[in-house]
Amino acid sequence: MADQQEPESVPVVYDFLPADLRLPTREELAGILMPHAGPLVLDGEVRACAECGAYRKWIVASTKNGIWLRCPAGHEEVEPRLDNAWFNRTSGPLGDQHATYEECLRALGY
Ligand SMILES: [Zn+2]
Repeated sequence: MADQQEPESVPVVYDFLPADLRLPTREELAGILMPHAGPLVLDGEVRACAECGAYRKWIVASTKNGIWLRCPAGHEEVEPRLDNAWFNRTSGPLGDQHATYEECLRALGY
């Protein structure tokens, strides 16, 4: 113990903020909804609802399980030809966050 040198101080970085102090990343969100008013053209075809034939006023939902389309009548289908990369290119920045899917739909005017 001859050397009584003070240990060099190291900066402390608190990089584990409580969950409610940081914004969730897209990956952590349960889903992101985006209204898509016009026709969706996939592989050169206008995407129509299999149940009612609607082809406009979609709600596009990006979830961990893929992209869902919801027609104005409320029919929901997975659309495997769309993916989250497409969604991120098409959607704007994240806006208001809502606790539930229904709340989010209401906020979008549905
Ligand atoms: Zn429909």
